[in-house]
Amino acid sequence: MNLAANVSSADAAARFRGIAESFRHRTPTGGFAWDAWRALSDAGLWRLPVPEKQGGAGGTWTQFVEAFEAIVSTLRSVGFAMALANQATLIRALLTHGSPAQCDRLLPRLMSGAAGATAISEKGTGTEVRALETRLTADADGYRLDGHKYNISHAPDAQWVLVVASYTNGDKRATALVLLDPAREGVSRTPPQETFGVADLPIGDMTFKNVAIGKHELLGEPAAGLRLLMDIASMNRALFGLLCADVVKPFLTDALAYAASRATLGTTLDQHQHVQRRLVEIEIGVQRTRSMALAALDQLLSQHPAALANCSIAKLGGARDLAQAALHLLAIHGSDGYRRGALATFVADALAMGSAGGTEEMHSRNIFSQMQRAATTAAGMR
Ligand SMILES: Cc1cc2nc3c(=O)[nH]c(=O)nc-3n(C[C@H](O)[C@H](O)[C@H](O)COP(=O)(O)OP(=O)(O)OC[C@H]3O[C@@H](n4cnc5c(N)ncnc54)[C@H](O)[C@@H]3O)c2cc1C
Repeated sequence: MNLAANVSSADAAARFRGIAESFRHRTPTGGFAWDAWRALSDAGLWRLPVPEKQGGAGGTWTQFVEAFEAIVSTLRSVGFAMALANQATLIRALLTHGSPAQCDRLLPRLMSGAAGATAISEKGTGTEVRALETRLTADADGYRLDGHKYNISHAPDAQWVLVVASYTNGDKRATALVLLDPAREGVSRTPPQETFGVADLPIGDMTFKNVAIGKHELLGEPAAGLRLLMDIASMNRALFGLLCADVVKPFLTDALAYAASRATLGTTLDQHQHVQRRLVEIEIGVQRTRSMALAALDQLLSQHPAALANCSIAKLGGARDLAQAALHLLAIHGSDGYRRGALATFVADALAMGSAGGTEEMHSRNIFSQMQRAATTAAGMR
């Protein structure tokens, strides 16, 4: 597989771009675009990368990623793109780490468009997974889950949730991944909370009080939980990086047209080198981030050891490039861009990527620890 070479058929991408085009008139300021989500789900978006024997279309992740790019570069919504990336991450998590029974139970629902959520963050511990306060404890029938989660995409309306909790066995601390039905007794959720941007993505909090969890509801063994979580989160990071590049494209097209049409004293904006430089900087960011994200995805799917660091690099670099692109676009459009509208919404939305999917500092720490690991491995081979 080589995602960067763009080798697979473009049919699926064209089909999903066509669907996305019929919803692109909306500005992402209202609620979640369930109409677009349903249309994409009904057209088989989530079945694309799933093997036929598991009810899917038997396609490849390459085809899914092409469809993802076609949708994200058409719809202009950071929040919707995040939801797409989160759902794809959950589907791959099940395919890669789920038991056959878990796949049988949950894949059909996810493929039909039931939204899932992944709940890692907490108000007190934020970026640090090893400090999670949400706890899974063993009891006679299985386990009990207690704790809380904060600022979780689709928490208010997800039909099932992958909850990351801490689990202590004797004096050993591990990371448990729980596949939770949020309708279960003891689970409560807030309505969507008001956020600075991504108003079209329902974000909320969850509380767990003595929630009964069966043994069959754990994804993998807790002893391997942190390793599984790194793999699952890496997919999300690479897709977040990719969305940071793709979502800019329609705004860049607008800016080129605007700069070519707005003229003062007979000189259009795009004749000014300073404006050209801003446009070129945006293009460099888009291409750099896109290539990095596709390469990182390739490595993740082929289990290359460098994937963990490179998925973080894709997310970190993508968030930086997206924020910078948003500021360049705002500058090019002048006060017109600052009026409430599609561009101003985009600028606020773009800043979400600074913390959603992990902060810059968290990714820097991951990249550094992967660098140390690679150096130790190389030293051992000498
Ligand atoms: C739009 C949006 C959607 C989200 N969706 C989800 C979701 O679906 N699921 C989910 O689990 N979470 C979600 N989050 C939460 C997101 O993952 C967290 O915001 C992120 O992990 C950072 O945690 P925090 O906000 O608690 O910041 P903190 O971890 O408290 O960090 C605050 C600041 O301190 C810095 N910092 C913290 N620790 C260190 C350190 N050790 N060294 C150096 N600097 C440090 C950080 O980099 C940051 O600059 C979402 C957030 C947003 C904005």
